[in-house]
Amino acid sequence: MSLQDKFGRQITDLRVSVTDRCNFRCVYCRSADPENYREHDEILSWKELERLAKVFCELGIRKVRLTGGEPLVRSGVDEFVKYLSGMGFADLSMTTNGHLLAERCERLIAAGLHRINISLDSLHREKFEKITRTKSFASVMNGIDAAQRSKLGPAKVNAVLVRGINDDEVEAFAEFARERGVIMRFIEFMPLDADRHWSREKVVAAAEVYERINARWPLVQIPHEKSETARKYRFADGAPGEIGLIAPVTQPFCGHCSRIRLTADGKLRTCLFSKDDHDLRAFLRDGASDEDLAAYIRSAVNEKEKSHHINEPGFVPPNRTMVFIGG
Ligand code: SAM
Ligand code: SF4
Repeated sequence: MSLQDKFGRQITDLRVSVTDRCNFRCVYCRSADPENYREHDEILSWKELERLAKVFCELGIRKVRLTGGEPLVRSGVDEFVKYLSGMGFADLSMTTNGHLLAERCERLIAAGLHRINISLDSLHREKFEKITRTKSFASVMNGIDAAQRSKLGPAKVNAVLVRGINDDEVEAFAEFARERGVIMRFIEFMPLDADRHWSREKVVAAAEVYERINARWPLVQIPHEKSETARKYRFADGAPGEIGLIAPVTQPFCGHCSRIRLTADGKLRTCLFSKDDHDLRAFLRDGASDEDLAAYIRSAVNEKEKSHHINEPGFVPPNRTMVFIGG
């Protein structure tokens, strides 16, 4: 029987963080502080990840997205993609900052990757460098080009909008979608940043993004599956490219959530904003059988939170921030 929670939601999507390490330090995600990574032995080995992937597959997971940290900094990720591809997941994707993508794209495709999401928070080199605290603008742009030219195209390009930092670029990003034919997705800033600088005033609501783009280039909604996080639009004038709006803060989609997450250190999280996580790694390393693991996952999923509470008084952000959970 497939995975289901006590509210009747079918759980078919798994996000796997393969590392907590990252070569960027985006201001809305990581802190500028020195590294505070987990020790290597705290992170699931590829063998452990393969074993869990098999259990999840048998439990009815159909979509797997690899994330991090930055998934491309962990060596062996191509082989893991190949392993997952061999298991026959219907959808196999990755979220990356794009820095290493140009050189890795073809190998990922050969390994069986279906789709790619690339983060890009500014179209201006200097601002990009400030946000990511890197000098990687050109390599990320090359990564987007490489993905777009490859079988992974059309690439999804993700921008997290933060008021006062990059909200002036909404129209420029839409133009980028039209010129390059990419799927440009705007993500609302969530209270998952390491520096705890999030505030409601810094969130740029998806409704505002819609209005601004629609005023310049009228948009037509594209039907979407209920469990999809993004509202999708094409340009009415027939220009290439697509717009996606992801509004976890102003229009939560918890009622249709089909996702669970596995952190790099082997914790199962049933919501981005879960207060607690479930220690699959301890269970695995204690010698649990596949059946034990499946039963444990089932019972954790059954208790999946009804919704996050960002919009309620007294909301407390989770201890783990995005870089440790895996977006
Ligand atoms: N390093 C890869 C990347 O940046 O694409 C994958 C991991 S990153 C944690 C996954 C996604 O989470 C990215 O699209 C990133 O922009 C998003 N993200 C990180 N912190 C966020 C926050 N506080 N609010 C909203 N999205 C966030
Ligand atoms: Fe790294 Fe991605 Fe977080 Fe940026 S958003 S710091 S690239 S994990």
